[in-house]
Amino acid sequence: MISLRVGVLSAVTAAGLFAGVPNALAGGIGPRVRSSHAYLRAMIDEAVMRSPTFRDLVAAIGATDGIVYVEQGACKHGVRACLALDVTPAAGFRILRVLVDARQPDWDVMASIGHELRHALEVLENRAIVDNAGIYLFYAETRDAKDRPFETRAATEAGFAVRREVSSFARGKLD
Ligand SMILES: [Zn+2]
Repeated sequence: MISLRVGVLSAVTAAGLFAGVPNALAGGIGPRVRSSHAYLRAMIDEAVMRSPTFRDLVAAIGATDGIVYVEQGACKHGVRACLALDVTPAAGFRILRVLVDARQPDWDVMASIGHELRHALEVLENRAIVDNAGIYLFYAETRDAKDRPFETRAATEAGFAVRREVSSFARGKLD
């Protein structure tokens, strides 16, 4: 799902994005998938460890000019996660926001983030998408089903794969 909400990062937030980031990390600007929310950050780390699909998504985003913020927030239509339809250019990067309902079970949070990171990658892989209108146009052309205008098969499959991988990891630990 993708949120129709349009937002703009404030100048203060944008300025703070690059503060205090260790230079040793990829690209010198720190992790490309970030969160200011401690629990969501923990879920991202956990999913990177447990799920090859999630790991690949994070690596693929790292190869783009994108930075994705995963934050606690509500989406329209009661969905549990969404990619906000806004692209914020900052210091040569394109910044996207994923909103997640952090009150779900851990596995669902990780799967939801994986699903939305796939959407983020869909946007970031297209360098021509630099604003909200670009995102609308892109999904109008690539949508999988007419009744679900912003859904794609790739995102649906990514979410299922992450869920499968994190739960089989958990089972493996118990055995
Ligand atoms: Zn989706």
